[in-house]
Amino acid sequence: MATPQKRGTNAAPAGQHFARLRRTRMTEALRSMVRETELAKNDFIYPLFVVPGHGVKKEVSSMPGVYQMSVDQIVRECTEVKAMGIPAVIFFGIPEEKDEVGSGAYDDLGIIQQAVRKVKHEVPELVLVTDVCLCEYTSHGHCGIVRGNEILNDESVELLAKEALSHAQAGADIVAPSDMFDGRVQAIRAILDTNGFQNIPIMSYAAKYASGFYGPFREAAESTPKFGDRRSHQMDPANAEEALREVAQDIAEGADIVMVKPAMPYLDIVQRVKERFHMPTAAYNVSGEYAMVKAAGKLGWIDEKRVMMEMLTGIKRAGADMILTYFAKEAARAIDGQR
Ligand SMILES: [Zn+2]
Repeated sequence: MATPQKRGTNAAPAGQHFARLRRTRMTEALRSMVRETELAKNDFIYPLFVVPGHGVKKEVSSMPGVYQMSVDQIVRECTEVKAMGIPAVIFFGIPEEKDEVGSGAYDDLGIIQQAVRKVKHEVPELVLVTDVCLCEYTSHGHCGIVRGNEILNDESVELLAKEALSHAQAGADIVAPSDMFDGRVQAIRAILDTNGFQNIPIMSYAAKYASGFYGPFREAAESTPKFGDRRSHQMDPANAEEALREVAQDIAEGADIVMVKPAMPYLDIVQRVKERFHMPTAAYNVSGEYAMVKAAGKLGWIDEKRVMMEMLTGIKRAGADMILTYFAKEAARAIDGQR
């Protein structure tokens, strides 16, 4: 016979040596009553890739169900997303031409600016988040200005601030700098404020790791660096304390929402960020996380829908208030009980 447990919560009554935690799991009704975390459609932000042209809807081969779309198609997609009850999208732009300084990123007639104007006009209630970075726009594929082998910080930050302002002028509701250069949140806050955009929030990619899970995204955003990698600005996957310093810094500079990216291998970071800072916290369920589930599902190795919901629930349980995910539409359908 086992030693009797110490009395406490869920302790066994006198003469009984274990707690019957299964009691509240016996039926779905009971399980639903004690459920601590419930996914909702308003947890999701749906990433979209905008390309030049008209009538373009091209599937990303490593991300089944994800498309590069021209502005007209993006408008249709956004209309659908809004009708489904998903409150927000984030735009990534693939410009017609790339150059050394990423001019397309802060061009008033750039791809994102066009998409934002059009969608804001057609689907005004949908929250439009714009990715603020240069890597999709530079010929070398880096997130900023490159000199020799170095990616320059302050020169790049100046351009990122210009880009954020240009997105706000086009009608973006939230700007989201994803570069991980130092001081960019401060620079963006300053340029927005001096131009009358005091009420535009900044969602900062505060703890963004140099991750192998971004592989499929680089195909979708056509942003693979031509040389080198992003380890001089994105974080080492081994570091957690440093993530907290990054997040603290972005909050001090004026970030309104802080993000951890990727999500699944970094749930400890999501939890620590939420517990430490009590800020609106976002987690990016990235392309590699999506592709793994899709691939294994296709092979019949996992139950794709079940794993999707489990993964997203885990991200929310860890502390994320918002989840950027390519699964947003599928998960919304699952929440609605369709399919
Ligand atoms: Zn970038």
